[in-house]
Parts: sequence; structure tokens; C-alpha cells
Amino acid sequence: MCTGNKSLNGVVFNVLPNFLFHRVPYLAVARTFEKIEEDSGSALYRDCSVLSVCLSCCSCSEDLLCCVYLCLNQLGPAYMGLELGVGETVLMKAVAQATGRQLDKIKAEAAEKGDLGLVAESSRNNQRMMFQPANLIAGGVFNKLKDIGNMSGNSAMNKKIDIIKGLFVACRFSEARYIVRSLAGKLRIGLAEQSVLSALSQAVCLSPPGQDFPPAVIDAGKGMSAEKQKAWIEEKSLLLKQTYCEMPNYDVIIPVILKEGIDELPKHCKLTPGVPLRPMLAHPTKGVGEVMKRFDEAAFTCEYKYDGERAQIHILENGEVRIFSRNQEDNTTKYPDIISRIHTVKNESVISCVLDTEAVAWDREKKQIQPFQVLITRKRKDVAAADIKVQVCVYAFDLLYLNGESLVKQPLSCRRALLKKSFQEKEGEFVFARAIDSDNTDAIAEFLEQSVRDSCEGLMVKTLEKDATYEIAKRSHNWLKLKKDYLDGVGDTMDLCVIGAYLGKGKRAGTYGGFLLACYDEDNEEFQSVCKIGTGFKDEDLEQHYKFLKEHILPKPRPYYRVDQSTEPDLWLDAVQVWEVKCADLSLSPIYKAGMGLCDPEKGISLRFPRFLRIRDDKKPEEATSGGQVPPLGPSECPRSRPLDLLNVQGSAPWTF
Ligand code: ATP
Repeated sequence: MCTGNKSLNGVVFNVLPNFLFHRVPYLAVARTFEKIEEDSGSALYRDCSVLSVCLSCCSCSEDLLCCVYLCLNQLGPAYMGLELGVGETVLMKAVAQATGRQLDKIKAEAAEKGDLGLVAESSRNNQRMMFQPANLIAGGVFNKLKDIGNMSGNSAMNKKIDIIKGLFVACRFSEARYIVRSLAGKLRIGLAEQSVLSALSQAVCLSPPGQDFPPAVIDAGKGMSAEKQKAWIEEKSLLLKQTYCEMPNYDVIIPVILKEGIDELPKHCKLTPGVPLRPMLAHPTKGVGEVMKRFDEAAFTCEYKYDGERAQIHILENGEVRIFSRNQEDNTTKYPDIISRIHTVKNESVISCVLDTEAVAWDREKKQIQPFQVLITRKRKDVAAADIKVQVCVYAFDLLYLNGESLVKQPLSCRRALLKKSFQEKEGEFVFARAIDSDNTDAIAEFLEQSVRDSCEGLMVKTLEKDATYEIAKRSHNWLKLKKDYLDGVGDTMDLCVIGAYLGKGKRAGTYGGFLLACYDEDNEEFQSVCKIGTGFKDEDLEQHYKFLKEHILPKPRPYYRVDQSTEPDLWLDAVQVWEVKCADLSLSPIYKAGMGLCDPEKGISLRFPRFLRIRDDKKPEEATSGGQVPPLGPSECPRSRPLDLLNVQGSAPWTF
């Protein structure tokens, strides 16, 4: 518990005199954001201390919850998809009205600074007031944001503007900057969920908030050496992160932490039907030989890799069925056909469960799988069963929960047996993923060919017994994907984030001619440059990219971009869009930062001859391929150094921008 003014690495909470048992001022949150923004990239930022001090100043569960959501810029659990719904124009109007400045001046300044938050902050200085409104508190700001998110209907826009104005007039120092950025949907301080979880556990361990906290837990870390304490906090942090994977809802987790302590979390916050899990993901491999090398002696199975959409199907105890996407979006109203059939394929013994499946477009007449492109023509929301033109077949490949028991710690062989015992196949509606359990290279190669003939993308190869638990939210080496494309190329396609643009020349004059792409490194929470790209674009693509990306120009790179000066783009872009890219080869490069240190201490990994394939709207920037994923199987598979003239050094590459 925080008992007075706090100071840590320059974050002085001198705004909090004697605030014991009082609510956390929003200024403490804003100051923390300022510090994180200034320090991002440094070790200080990554060790989460600044944020943990702020969180440890919360003296009640409600405050802690509000602060955590403010840091994540969410109005509630991510899977509930609550959004603020405030467009840029409305925000600008609110800033103009609250500060008495003209709208076109605000617009011009925002275009110049590339950040309406900074404009709002500097505009506040123009204001004179007869009465100084009460200082903002964190919980109050969060509740106002929530009110804005809940508003709909005709007069909503004006009401939203009124609330925003009310907040602005009370803003001090940098508060306006972060309120505007929260409203605009992007805090731009590079704070990812994993850091917030680390900071939360650190705050709870070192300075437990809340008066109800069991004293035994408060004392647990006292008297430890610094090293021991660090390991102790890391252990708690891991427990919190594991719990969060099973129950990604702070509304449930935080009250338990404060009342019972982190150690008790697994008892109280468990995998629950109705709450979506982040799925287990696979690593790419280049061929059957690699699979054999990887799994060595371990028993494994090869399943068809269906080309559709991941569907996590939850049957709740009350019989309700919910379907979630790969990104935990609620797809229940997209698939009324699946909902109505699920009760007909489950055995009576199944009361509640969570299934992992792929929903694939299905041609009922020809009785065959249809391409992914057909599936995406289906309406996304509120589909009426009678209007469905594209039929889907569900291919079930895993069972994560059954009748009150989580199965994620069970090996796949056991989960699969339970899946087959609990459900029945129905042709064209619900089918178990086709699989062979063989370690014969020829048999696997033949099965791969067969999968392609059966309109699948290739195989998913999974361990069955050893190291075969379901790893929620992880890209695991215990699942390998073997796509047909890998066999003739460099491996999987990569999903990369656009962070810069080069002005076009010749035919491309007036638009962007090329782009700088980056991987996302989760450990360091940074975007690392990986290549320039200038090919694969149709004229319509270039036009579309120009229209979209010009709205995301930044005056300078984000502190969490890692880019070499020699590849500096003409325009920096906010990391908002992910592109799927294919390349001919990989190379080690001194000027690209992806996976720097993995293969070579001085060189990163770069893509040779990258080609644009498509925009990945279903992936967030933080879900872009990571540096570690670029070499398909980790450091041992790193590309050999190539002669300099083959590397894309000094822009001497095959692009004409
Ligand atoms: P990723 O999901 O790995 O980030 P991605 O979205 O580009 O990458 P792919 O690499 O094509 O997708 O493959 C992974 C996806 O394949 C899974 O998320 C799942 O939707 C789908 N899939 C199809 N068949 C299976 C299967 N038998 N087991 C697991 N996943 C499968």
C-alpha cells in the first residue's frame, strides 16, 4: 500500500499528498504514461517498475481495476469488444469547443504534429476559468470513458462531446494528451498486456494494495535478497499470466488477487465456458525431414490443415452455445447453422465443453471443401439461418474442457479420445480432423499430398503424449505446420506490420512506391524492421494503401521502432496494419533489426524479394510475425551469411521506388 509521496526514477507522485485511502488521481496515471513514453526502449521501461508503483498506489479493488483498464485502453475484458466509438472529427470538435479554439486550427495542428493528444495538451494552456474544477481521479475518468462507450442513438454524439468537454476543462498537465489518445483508441506508449501483467504482480508482491490483503502475503517478500525477491516476483508473475490465459478477465482476477493473493488465483479463476481463450498456435516447418528431426522419438499425429476460420465452440452448462474467433471475437451470430447443429452431434453425457475447430466452406452438392475465399463472402454478424448461402462444415481437432474439468493439462492423445467419445460425426456438418499417427516419412509425404488434393493447406503435426498439453496463447514447437507452399518457398508467409513509406517515383509518383515492414518482438515490445517491399502490388492495392496509410503518418518514429538509419523511410507510419508477405529467401543483414542477436550478434534477419500478398485485417499489429519466428525453426535454422551484394544493403535492392 502506498503511504505517502512516491518517487521512482523521476516519477514523482507529488500530486498525491496524504492520499492514503483516497482515490488515485488521474494525474498519477498520466505521469506514469509520460514516463513510460519517455523511457520506452530502455531497461527501465521493460522492468515495469514505473507502472507497478502507480498500480501499488491503488487502495481499493475498483481503483486498481480502473487503472489497469486505463493502461490497456480497454473498457472491459477484451473479448467483450466494448468500444468507445469516438471518431477523429468528433474528438477534434470536442477539443475545439473545450479550448475555445477554431476547428480548422486544431485540424491543421493535428496534421502537423500527427497527434491530437499533444494538440489538446498544448491547447489547454489557452484557457482561463473562473472556477477551477475538481481534479480528475483515475476511476472517474474511466467511468466517463465507459459512459461514452455505452452511448448510442441520435443524440449520442452531442452527449459524448459534452462528457469529453467536461473532462477537458478539468485536465492538468499531460492529462489531456492521454485522455484524447484513450478516446482515439491508441495510447501510443507501447505498453503491451504482458507488461501490465508483470507490473500488476510486482505491485501486488512488493506493495500490496488494499487493506484486506492477508498479512501473510504482504510479509512474504520481506527480508529476501534482491535476487531472491526478483525470482519470487517472476514466479508470481508467471502464475498471474497463466491464470490470465485461462480467465482473461480482470473484473474476475483483480478482486481475487486483493482478497486472496496471487497464489490462490488458480483455485478461483479457471477456464470457463463462455470466456474465450487465446488459441494455441503452430510453428512453420519446411518439410517432412524437419518434422522428423524436431519430434525425434516423440509420438506424434499428422492432421489435415483445413483452410477456413478457427472456431472455438463453447457449450455452457445452461445449454447456450457461443462461438469465438482466433482473436476472441464473438462470432456466435455469424454461425446460427453451427449453433443449431451442435446439440445434434454431441452425446448426452456432454453438459458443458470447449471445442477447438476449423469452420470450412462446404459445397453440399459436390460434397467437397470450398476455398477460404468462399468462406469470407459470408456475412459477419446477425446472420439469419434462412439466408445462408455458403454452408460450413466444422472440423473438430481438440477438446479443451469437458463437464466442469479443464483438459488443457492432459496430453493430446487423451483430449482426442475424449473428443471422439463425446461427439458423433455428421457428414458435411461436424467431422473430426482427418489424421494419421505414423512416423513413416513416405506415409507422411503421401498424406501431405493427399491433404492438398482434398483442398487443404497441408498438415498440422502435433505431439501426442510427451509435451503434448494444450498451450493456451502460445506458438508452440509441439505443433508444427507443414503447408504445401513451404515446400517450394522459404516457408510460411509472414505477417508484417507497415511502419514506413517511401515516396513513389515514375509510374508511382504521387503515391507510395515502397514500404518499410517490421516484425513484432513480444519480449521487448518493439517493432523491428525486416525488409523494404515494393513488389506484389496491383495498382488498386497501391491506391488503397495510399488512402489508408496517409491518415497514419507520424512526425517521428515511435520510441519502440527499431530501425537502422540507412533504411529510414520518407514517412513514418503508425503501426496499425498487418500485411501478409511471401519471400524467396532469408538473409542476414546488418541493417535490419528483426531477430537481431538470434543468429548473429550484429545482424538481423531480412527477407529477400518480398512480395505483397494481402492485408491481414484479422491480425492486430502486436500479432505480426516475431523476429524469432522468421527463421522457421529457431537459431539452428538461421540463414547463412550471404555475399554483401546479395543483401539488401544501402537500398541497392531490386526495388524501384
Ligand atoms: P497463425 O494462426 O499460426 O498465426 P495464420 O493465421 O497465418 O497463422 P496458418 O499459419 O495458416 O494461420 O495456420 C494456423 C491455423 O490453421 C490455425 O489457427 C487454425 O485456424 C487452422 N487449422 C486448420 N486445421 C487445423 C488443425 N488440424 N489443427 C490446428 N489448427 C488448424
